[in-house]
Amino acid sequence: MKAEILEIRGAIERDAQAILEFTRDLIAIPSENPPGKHYGDAVEALAGQLKKLGFTSQVHGDCVLSFIGDGDDRTLYLSGHYDVVPAHDTEQFVPTVRGKNLFGRGSSDMKGALAAMIYAAKAVRDSGMKLDGRIGLVFVPDEETAGPRGSRFLEREGLLGQGAVGMLTPEPTGGVVWNANRGAISLRITARGKSAHVGRQFQGVNAFEGMMRCAGLLAELKREVEVRTTAFDVQPSQARHSILLLGGHTGGGANFNAVPESCWFTVDRRINPEEDFAAERERLLSLIKLASDGRCKIEVDILQEGLPAGTPADTPLGICLATSIMRVTGAAPRFEMCPGLLETRFYAARGIPAYAYGPGLLTVSHGPNEFVPIDNLVDCASVYASTALELLGVERS
Ligand SMILES: [Zn+2]
Repeated sequence: MKAEILEIRGAIERDAQAILEFTRDLIAIPSENPPGKHYGDAVEALAGQLKKLGFTSQVHGDCVLSFIGDGDDRTLYLSGHYDVVPAHDTEQFVPTVRGKNLFGRGSSDMKGALAAMIYAAKAVRDSGMKLDGRIGLVFVPDEETAGPRGSRFLEREGLLGQGAVGMLTPEPTGGVVWNANRGAISLRITARGKSAHVGRQFQGVNAFEGMMRCAGLLAELKREVEVRTTAFDVQPSQARHSILLLGGHTGGGANFNAVPESCWFTVDRRINPEEDFAAERERLLSLIKLASDGRCKIEVDILQEGLPAGTPADTPLGICLATSIMRVTGAAPRFEMCPGLLETRFYAARGIPAYAYGPGLLTVSHGPNEFVPIDNLVDCASVYASTALELLGVERS
């Protein structure tokens, strides 16, 4: 097996310029989300590149799927998203190489990784190794907003994770593997009262006081849940605690001399993989209901919801991935919990081993100076190809 992997590494290195060029093409498409712009252009570019390399692809809605290998009962999915968070300025859509780094919106999260996925599949196909199974390349939008047009669309259509033996997503993990993520329920809570002039406040209903009552109950819940810690690895150790963030965004009232008619604040509850998501959700929502009284009404808008997920490090895919990372980079990877939501959750919920590992860096993703180290693109493509061969490869045909 080792000789094949070396060959594959050589093939990917010969494609390094093509990987860089295609990443540049993708960065130049401003697929900003929100609001979810230019998805059609990204779909066209991805399907076009696959075709150019001799792969067939299927377009479902705004998603692109391509399968390499035979059969449909043993599929290793490489699934990435092509939407990007809004740019700080339009210059970010002009891909720029400086030194050994490629700058641009989406370079790190995760258009460079999409190119790496495609060229990994090409290298596996060209190796002539017969696969006991197939690689499924999946390109989705809407990851940045947990929106309906990406993985959730595929799930609804019965197209997600069919016949999967595992799933990898190339989020910018900065060298570690993420094998777990917290669940999230993010809310906006609005207290509704009745406005009145300060001198006649007895005629009003103070929404701020209603909001404080609600926030007080939630602060008690915060003290209780934030004592809980996860057994999944996450650095530093303080980051292991369950989370209830109060008032990340808040506002209300009209002026200091008027009873506020409405006041609102956000709540971001991040639930550890070991906690019961449904029970925590119910607890949170019923507590908020308690804060309503006959006069001041409390309303809740759910901004986002996502399940927690965790895959042990020692599944067959986890072992193949760790072996491949060690082979390519020379160091064994750490398996850690991701601080945010991950699309692995859609697969893990179906019992599919799912991990994130990608060429980008979390520290620069979403920022004004987003970049990806160009060498990481080649390394990452080599890791994916090696992982696919370790997991699915049988012999040279
Ligand atoms: Zn991402």
